[in-house]
Amino acid sequence: MKLNIQNTFTEELPSDLIKENTRRQVKKACFSYVSPKKTSNPSLIHVSEDVLHKIGLTALDSSSKDFLSVFSGNNVYKNTTPYAMCYGGHQFGNWAGQLGDGRAINLFEVLHQKNRWAIQLKGAGKTPYSRTADGLAVLRSSIREYLCSEAMFHLGIPTTRALSLCLSGDQVLRDILYNGNPAYEQGAIVTRVAQSFIRFGNFEILASQGDIKTLQLLTDYTIKHFFPTITEKGKGAYVDFFKQVTQLSLEMVTHWQRVGFVHGVMNTDNMSILGLTIDYGPYGWLEDYDPGWTPNTTDRQHKRYRFGNQPKVVQWNLFKLANALYPLIEEAEPLETILEEYSSNVEIRKLEMIRSKLGLFELDEDDFSLIEDLENNMQLIEIDYIIFYRILSQINSSNTSTLVKVLLEAFYNPNELINEVEEKWQNWLNKYIERLQKEKNSDIERKEKMNTINPKYVLRNYMAQLAIEDAEKGDYELLNEFHTMLQQPYAEQPEYQKWFAKRPNWARNKVGCSMLSCSS
Ligand code: AMP
Ligand code: MG
Repeated sequence: MKLNIQNTFTEELPSDLIKENTRRQVKKACFSYVSPKKTSNPSLIHVSEDVLHKIGLTALDSSSKDFLSVFSGNNVYKNTTPYAMCYGGHQFGNWAGQLGDGRAINLFEVLHQKNRWAIQLKGAGKTPYSRTADGLAVLRSSIREYLCSEAMFHLGIPTTRALSLCLSGDQVLRDILYNGNPAYEQGAIVTRVAQSFIRFGNFEILASQGDIKTLQLLTDYTIKHFFPTITEKGKGAYVDFFKQVTQLSLEMVTHWQRVGFVHGVMNTDNMSILGLTIDYGPYGWLEDYDPGWTPNTTDRQHKRYRFGNQPKVVQWNLFKLANALYPLIEEAEPLETILEEYSSNVEIRKLEMIRSKLGLFELDEDDFSLIEDLENNMQLIEIDYIIFYRILSQINSSNTSTLVKVLLEAFYNPNELINEVEEKWQNWLNKYIERLQKEKNSDIERKEKMNTINPKYVLRNYMAQLAIEDAEKGDYELLNEFHTMLQQPYAEQPEYQKWFAKRPNWARNKVGCSMLSCSS
């Protein structure tokens, strides 16, 4: 196995001077050196070929002993110095102080075809940032991260990637529901890959410590490597940097709303500075359309991170990032202007995004009210977010007497589509078909376009759970199947038709399906 290894993060940024792996508050540093924990009996469950090729490896490499020992943490290459990043964060609206990579260990960076990739093991043991926890991850949460991050990539959504999934061979104790019933589960390690894993929280921790020197080093480093279009120097560069992070974050969250992804823990330590979806914990996928839904039981009371609130939370998080960058700029106004622009841009992008989901590509002033009516209707009785938009593309625009029954498949309880509910839906459909007359695309063209925007297959909550239950018994067939299927989420793939289906009833209130905690 030959990798073109280069380490810019550790070479260009200050390290923690203490080398022992003890829990501590780290100052004047961006990271601490730490080695992964040795695993007792690692085995490889899955490899993402696409990611393998991105870092310059082949399928043959992935079946080597070397691959398994490096990506399970058992072998550290001689010329590399694994490390955990130091970051802080606002969790559920409150400053939480130092957090850091408590169970992620960065191995090295790989340069391949002019692209730089940071390679990180998640679940590879304690670090100086582990606080009271064990630094490990269990199979269930690792499968969720592994499958979902790859699914997001293939949906065209900026995300960290997953190279491989291993069992460590060790047992890990977890209390899934935090209700005093801990049990042993199989330990696992996901190798994550991204241009960088730097988060908003990396900047926040330095600002909170008043360490402006290191804050500036980290910001300069981030701009130099990841924001090549910023050519200005000094304050102007930092303002431009904040603006670009704002744009990237807006793009990310607009994509989430498009496909019905609910992150679940949008704390500032889980916000990538590159606008990547990062840290797949208690995330979920909208099944019936409900803007108030969150899969995260820890957030059950306030639902801060509910689906409909995600764009606002991004803005709140950006505000915290702006505060952290302020010492480099010393002027609030340009930052405030960017944050204000976000408020209007979020509405503009939402409108554009939903119009595209509806196959509306010509401009029409009435679209706003068409969308408003739709969103209201979608909350009258349960309707599946994915199925609705996918079958909507089949509407015949010349048949003005189409009955709303053509959408029946999308409703969870089709027999509730009666009386006023039916009337409201019928009115909406009539308006929609009338609106389609203004489009230049033919029905076939519109359908083709819509089907590149509205996915057919996503990792529904119960599907991940089914793959997990099988995997826990040593059967990885479903995991393989989903990994393959989710590489083409917009394609018809009739062989997988059975996964284009509403959530089954048994999954409605099941742990792991609609209820998840952070106990990963
Ligand atoms: P999260 O909200 O899951 O992204 O995690 C918040 C913080 O807790 C981060 O600093 C994580 O590194 C840390 N953390 C989560 N799980 C563990 C674990 N099992 N061991 C050590 N640290 C953890
Ligand atoms: Mg995190």
